[in-house]
Order: sequence, then structure tokens, then C-alpha cells
Amino acid sequence: AGGIERHGYDVIVIGAGGSGLRAAIAAHESGAKVAVVCKSLLGKAHTVMAEGGCAAAMGNLYPDDNWQVHFRDTMRGGKMLNNWRMAQLHAQEAPERVMELEDWGALFDRTDDGLISQRDFGGHRYARLAHIGDRTGLEIIRTLQQRLVALGIDVFMECTVTDLFKSGDQISGAFAYWRETGRFVVFEAPSVVLATGGIGKSFKVTSNSWEYTGDGHALALRAGATLINMEFVQFHPTGMVWPPSVKGLLVTESVRGDGGILRNSEGKRFMFDYIPDFFKKETADTEEEADRWYEDKKNNRRPPELLPRDEVARAINSEIKAGRGSPHGGIFLDIASRRSPEFIKRRLPSMYHQFKELADVDITAEPMEIGPTCHYVMGGVEVDPETEVSVVAGLYAVGECSGGMHGSNRLGGNSLSDLIVFGKRAGDAAAAHAGGLGSSRPGVSDEEVAAAQRSALAPFEVQGGENPYTIQQDLQQTMNDLVGIIRVAAELESALGEIQKLKERAAHMTVEGHRQYNPGWHLSIDLRNMLLVSECIAKAALARQESRGGHTRDDFPGPDPEWGGKNLVLRLDSTGTGVDLSEQPLPVMPDELKKFFEEE
Ligand code: FAD
Repeated sequence: AGGIERHGYDVIVIGAGGSGLRAAIAAHESGAKVAVVCKSLLGKAHTVMAEGGCAAAMGNLYPDDNWQVHFRDTMRGGKMLNNWRMAQLHAQEAPERVMELEDWGALFDRTDDGLISQRDFGGHRYARLAHIGDRTGLEIIRTLQQRLVALGIDVFMECTVTDLFKSGDQISGAFAYWRETGRFVVFEAPSVVLATGGIGKSFKVTSNSWEYTGDGHALALRAGATLINMEFVQFHPTGMVWPPSVKGLLVTESVRGDGGILRNSEGKRFMFDYIPDFFKKETADTEEEADRWYEDKKNNRRPPELLPRDEVARAINSEIKAGRGSPHGGIFLDIASRRSPEFIKRRLPSMYHQFKELADVDITAEPMEIGPTCHYVMGGVEVDPETEVSVVAGLYAVGECSGGMHGSNRLGGNSLSDLIVFGKRAGDAAAAHAGGLGSSRPGVSDEEVAAAQRSALAPFEVQGGENPYTIQQDLQQTMNDLVGIIRVAAELESALGEIQKLKERAAHMTVEGHRQYNPGWHLSIDLRNMLLVSECIAKAALARQESRGGHTRDDFPGPDPEWGGKNLVLRLDSTGTGVDLSEQPLPVMPDELKKFFEEE
């Protein structure tokens, strides 16, 4: 293993989205020597695509808003399966983290009296999303990146991590390759923060881009950490359905927050037919009340278009299945007939351009066609709420690749806030862990480096096998068809059978060419992760015999109180290529927090 590029740090952060950057800044400010490693260019993480905003109970528009209400909304949105302590810390600390972004130069939209403006989103009782037009994520990343650069934190970009190193039961570093040259890099570090984002690329229709292959989830499993909540995948109700080249691309929830409504092919505003009992008390039951709400939120209840995402996605799915869909197999999202062209262009500039340029649709004049798209994974690495450390010493996880915070369903706007709240906590803790080790740091052995290298190069050794693209396509189709929005036991079982076959095919895939910029090789490495994570999702979805949040079982409709007290935990099995599943009781919420739910 001689001759490989080597670097030593206190803390390595894998991923340059909002959570990774926030963690890196915190670790640096705690005195650690830090590097950020990211698979694509700096500034090209999913966080950039976040349009709607960042949830924080600042009370700028509604003085009645506070962390308790935000906590309650988050738990209700997650159908009480959230780690209560994470939901509490998140609600308490989000306002402070948003103000800090402002101190660092983020230019949030303003209220008339100069406070940070707050926008309405599904599942939030009060308007509480701090935003910058529909480009909130871009401004947050710009701000964090500027600070990262000003602090002089090292960045390794277009550098993909393929394995983690361990010494005994402690993390000791990471192994990566440069996309451009295919050459390997070894990072030695006693603290590693996973901030790799989502898993969407395992599904055919998704709002996620190419990087999101569940790498952090799989790296954690292979290092001995556990995953929870993996059966809960969020299908965003509104993705573009046409043209085919952009199928799945996100249409922000702000369209509905700002007045857009859903109609079927008969012109009916159908969401009133899909209000579940759980949300009846706080949802308008007439169009008149729903429409009044935009102007007078105190005296009216919210429109049903703003129910949590899982409810809206299922309703759209049912309308399409019942034959009341739009010409390209979606449903209509109409803001044109409800708001002036000036309003739409001012509030939703990116959406206006997205539809104009990609679909030749003018959203100020005609309705959009939309349908559900795989968007976000609630499941991820099981972590300690205070420090974000996994069950493996030195291994931390934050942002979308961590689990627990969002329970069975994430509310819109609660991801950007999650990133900055837990990013800071993980960075602080990772720096403290590294600092506390003194000179007794775990090392990386040559044997481990050689093994990581062999494993990365394995696809070059096979002759005449299948190429990774066909395996990826078959996996995406399987996940979409058999592990999608509506699930049943027989289909989940056959998905697991398919995944097993795909794993066997992947063991014999061939990569052509050399290590210099070779996307086929990169995919072959990603595919290992996608297959492992897909198995986790299908296995947990089969085991959970109830419907809750993002997980809907046609054969077990409705939530089951017994399942409401349990998490499903996944860990690598003894073969090292599959996963074992077990049940674990949820942490018990203290009485002083339980009281927020007592009236229910
Ligand atoms: P990401 O921002 O996803 O970044 C992951 C990083 O990890 C990237 O830098 C990537 O290159 C890197 N990486 C991955 N694998 C590897 C590897 N093996 N080696 C090295 N680097 C790796 N949330 C909200 O709260 N409000 C919104 O309005 C909103 N809108 C959204 C709109 C869209 C279109 C999408 C896709 C998501 C939206 N979300 C929104 C969700 C939110 O943006 C994401 O959940 C969040 O940004 C994830 O941040 P993260 O820090 O976890 O990771």
C-alpha cells in the first residue's frame, strides 16, 4: 500500500451539504484540524436544491409560536416515532442557528418590520420557515461555504469515500478515490462525521441527483453501526411528471403554501376527500374556509393541500389510480387561476423558470402536471441525540443520513434546520473526541489499506460480466414497483428476492477501461451501497405490519399502537453482505413533554 496519498486530521467530514459544512465549522472552531471530503463539486450538494425554507419557531409573524409548538408539530408529523430528544433539541436550537447564519451573512427575506420573514408549510401550525425566495438552500450553502473558506478548512472535492477504517472498535480513518484520476487517498482521523445525504437514486422516479446512493448509510453499516427508521421513505407529492427527461424533478411545496391547489382531470379540488381523522380538527373542510386561511390564519383552518406530505402523496396516488389523472399520468397543480402572474414570478422565480425551460409550461397561465417522487429518507444511522455519535466510537452521522429526528415522516423545512442544529452538535463532539484521545490515537494499518484497495478495484478483475448500468436500472425499477408508496407483503418479499439476485449479478459485474475518470467504475462502487441500503428498506418495510407516516401497507392499513412503540434496527449480518433486523423499544418521553399531546 506504499505510494498512496495520505493525510492526517483530527476530524474528517464526509459530505459538503449543510450538515457537513456546519459540522466542519463547529469542529474547526473547537480547535480541531478538519477536512471536508465530497463526492461532487463543493456547492453541489442537495442542500443547494432546498427551495422552501428552514423551519425555526422564531415567532416573527405569530408570537404564539415557540419551540413547544414546533416540537409538537414535528412529533405529530412523524406520527410520534421520532426520537423525542432530537425533536426537542431541534425545535429549541433552530432559531439560534438561523440567527447565526444571518450573522455570517445570509440574507433572509424580511417582514415589513424588518424581521426574518416566515413562510407556511405543510404540518407546521404557524408560518415558520425562514426563507430566501425559493432559493433558501443556495443561500445557506453560500453562507456556510464562505465561512468554511474564510476559516481555511481543507476541502477534498470530487473525492469519493468507499470504506472506513477501524482499529479495534474505534474509527481510525477513511479510504477514498479521486474521480478524475482514479487514484486512492487515505485519511487518518480518530473522528469521522458522515454527512452524505440520501438514498433516492435507488428509486426510478426521484428528486435526488446522481450522488445520492446511500453511501453514508452503507459505510456506517459496514463499520458496525446500526440504522433505524429505514422503512420510512418520503415520497414528495409534487414532482414533475413530464417531459420524461425530468420526471421526478421537485416542484416545491411553497407552490401550495403560497396558494396553489390540486385538481383532478374532472377539475375537482379533491384533497377535501382525503382528510384523515388525525388532522380533522386543524384542517378546513370547505373551500371557502381554506381560501380565507391565506389571509386570516388565526380564524380559519389550513387547506387540506397542506396536510403532511405522506397524506398528500397517497391522495394523489389514489386519484391517478382511479383514472382521474392528467394526460401525462400526474395530477394538476394550479396556481395560475389563483394568484397574479406578478405574485407567482416574485414568490416562485425558480419554479417559473423550471417549467418554462423544461416543459414549456407557463405556470402563471396554466396548471402544472405533477405526481409523487422519491424525495427523502427518514431512516439513517442511529445516533445519540446530544452528540450524534453512532454505536461506533469516533463515528458520527448528521443530516439526511442520520435517523431518529423525523420519525416516520419529515415535515417540510425541518431538514435545513436539522442540518444546522445537529451539524453543530456533531462537529463539537467530534472535535472533543479527537482532542480527548491525546497521543493514543488509533492507526490505519497497511493491510486495511490494501483490503480497501482490492475491494474498490474488484470490478476490474471480472471478465465478460454484466455492466453496472443494467443492474442499477433493474434495482431502480424493483424499488419503484415493489417498495414504493403503497406496499404489500407479497411484493416486498419478491423485492427482497430480486435484490438478492441483483446482488449475485453485481458480484460478477465487469467494468471496462481504466481508472481515469470512469463513471462505470464509480457506479459499480455506488451500486454495492445502493443494494445494501435497498435491502434495509425492503426488509424493514416487510417487518413493519402497520401503516404510519411514509410507510403505507395495503395489507395493514392504519397505525398499530404496539408498532408505535418500536424501532426496527438494522445491522450488517455475519456474511458481511446482508443485514439482520431486530426490534427495539423507543426511548420514553418524559411527562413534561407528554403533556403537549394529552388532549389527543
Ligand atoms: P446533502 O446536502 O445531500 O449533501 C451530501 C454530501 O455528501 C454531498 O456533498 C455529496 O457529494 C457528499 N457525498 C455523498 N456520498 C459521498 C461519498 N461516498 N464520499 C464523499 N462525499 C459523499 N429540505 C428542507 O428543509 N426545506 C426545503 O425546502 C427542501 N427542499 C428540497 C428540494 C429538493 C429538490 C431536494 C432534493 C431536497 C430538499 N430538501 C429540503 C431536503 C434537504 O435539502 C436535504 O435533506 C438536505 O439538504 C440534506 O443535507 P445533508 O447535509 O444531509 O446532505
